[in-house]
Amino acid sequence: MAKFAIDLKSGDIKNEAELIVGIDLGTTNSLVAYIKNGQAEAVKGKNGKSTLVPSVVHFSPEGKIVVGDAAKEKLISDPENTIYSVKRLMGKSYGDVQGVQQYFGYQIIDNDTESLVKIRVKDKFYTPIELSAEILKALKNRIEEELDRVVSKAVITVPAYFNDSQRQATRDAGKLAGLDVLRIVNEPTAASLAYGIGLDQSESHTIAVYDLGGGTFDISILRIQDGVFEVLATNGDTFLGGDDFDRAIVDYWTAENKLDSTQINADKELSQALRLQAEKAKKALSSESEYRGEVNTISCQITREQFDELIQPLVDRTIACCQNALKDAQVQLADIDRVIMVGGSTRVPLVRESVGQTFGQEVYDKVNPDEVVALGAAIQADILAGNQKDILLLDVTPLSLGIETVGGLMDIILPRNSKIPTRVGRRYTTSVDGQRNLKIAVYQGERDLIQHNRKLGEFILKGIPPMPAGLPKVEIQFILNADGILKVKAEELRSNVEQEIEVKPTYGISEEEMALMLIDSIQNAADDMTVRALLEARNEANNIVLSAERFLGQNQEILNEEEIATTRSLTQALRDAVAGTDKDAINQAMETLNTYTAPLAHRAMDFALLEAMKGKQI
Ligand code: ADP
Ligand code: MG
Repeated sequence: MAKFAIDLKSGDIKNEAELIVGIDLGTTNSLVAYIKNGQAEAVKGKNGKSTLVPSVVHFSPEGKIVVGDAAKEKLISDPENTIYSVKRLMGKSYGDVQGVQQYFGYQIIDNDTESLVKIRVKDKFYTPIELSAEILKALKNRIEEELDRVVSKAVITVPAYFNDSQRQATRDAGKLAGLDVLRIVNEPTAASLAYGIGLDQSESHTIAVYDLGGGTFDISILRIQDGVFEVLATNGDTFLGGDDFDRAIVDYWTAENKLDSTQINADKELSQALRLQAEKAKKALSSESEYRGEVNTISCQITREQFDELIQPLVDRTIACCQNALKDAQVQLADIDRVIMVGGSTRVPLVRESVGQTFGQEVYDKVNPDEVVALGAAIQADILAGNQKDILLLDVTPLSLGIETVGGLMDIILPRNSKIPTRVGRRYTTSVDGQRNLKIAVYQGERDLIQHNRKLGEFILKGIPPMPAGLPKVEIQFILNADGILKVKAEELRSNVEQEIEVKPTYGISEEEMALMLIDSIQNAADDMTVRALLEARNEANNIVLSAERFLGQNQEILNEEEIATTRSLTQALRDAVAGTDKDAINQAMETLNTYTAPLAHRAMDFALLEAMKGKQI
């Protein structure tokens, strides 16, 4: 049956059903999937072999760009021109990756530590966004060939811990590849969708998603309620994965055959051949109990038991991460309804058994762990295309967002864990008479003082017509879209002067920093409260000093000398208190001044009223 879709903007009827594809842009492998006859399916290449596209980009001497299996073959023979693991560099500054530069076989450079990294290939420089775009183009080609039609819309997955700038970079890579990225989805969210978890909005679940790939390990604890996926905690190790299993096997064969490891490492071709043989052995051991092979007369033998022994310490490290994630999420083991296995390395029986034991339940591993994220992305894409009615999936913000107010205080506009997409507005005013410009500085974090939070950007609302302090009505709106990208809009409502920015952080924060910011806010909550109380007392006192001065200026004729002198000295006492750091002293001085001036103010008001009555004509 043919499907028809109506474009709601133009009213046109399109004769092909809208197609949005799902993409898993992985560190080691990437995939593209779509819904075929109601079922999510990952697309194989022309040779029909595998659904996986190795996330490797090779630049040939003639400047030709090759992606995937053919590029992977060049990893050893032409390392400087073969880029792998580019996902690790997305949205990162040079400062972020300095410590791990030796891990990459290619050159990462930059002129200053705050801007985003670039990769040098021959005499050209590429951003991680451009390189990821090459991988995305290969996936786009793959599905276009399969379906024989143009594909221009996609959903792309990212790790749950990716921050704003890493998400934005992923979205930009899509744009560069000619894809309209309709949604950025968390990988664990996609994995749970592939199992149908979260599709029924009346159900709630707490799930653990264990993702062991080629070079990275992530554990995420999610709570799914009313169609909202909330990331309770993430943990992991960005340098732990199946590659380490391969290395352990190579080391084992080296020792068994009494070979010299430095000699082997020096022979690039031999070490590559051994690595490939080790990966083959590892995969075989996922279903068999023994492997026998040979590389250049070197005997390559290993049993499942021996392999398990080699990788036990690595598996133990992932289990420790799981326990930390549970602690951070403040959930008990018994609260976890499901444990989902993601990533090629979860095919290793010891991994599955250890995870099952840790969580005390059978793990979910029926959906191919290589494909599960891409399949979930395809389901999310199908929902967005409107093919699955009544399902709306929402994520939540991981950190609070707000602006700086007087005294360097953080005023939270969108609290952490707010559902997105969302739009929130709040009214502000000026603090100085005739103020024409208002600086709006946007911050992310949980602390009370902006200096402890992370600045996302700032802009100036210019051209407010001069008005007394407190009169302008400035509405600040935070509009957070479904990818977690923030737009901030400011408008002075009396004059309709307005200004807006899209917040793209200048450089990325790592997941550790994000976690630190949260921990920091908890540990410093008491301190922050004291500081906030002091700043608030000062702000209030300053306003009272101002009104006292205005009062004295306007009511000279109804006050006697003693009253004027006392008001002056009490105002000065309040000023002195504001200069100090004792909030109780400030409050005390405010109270004294208020108590003394209250009857004077009453008298002034009566007088003004009398004057007004006199002048009134009927
Ligand atoms: P990523 O998400 O980081 O891109 P993948 O999920 O594609 O990574 O996982 C790739 C890893 O999975 C590689 O180390 C690969 O050797 C490993 N792997 C794939 N199949 C198997 C298998 N049958 N047994 C064990 N490991 C496997
Ligand atoms: Mg993955």
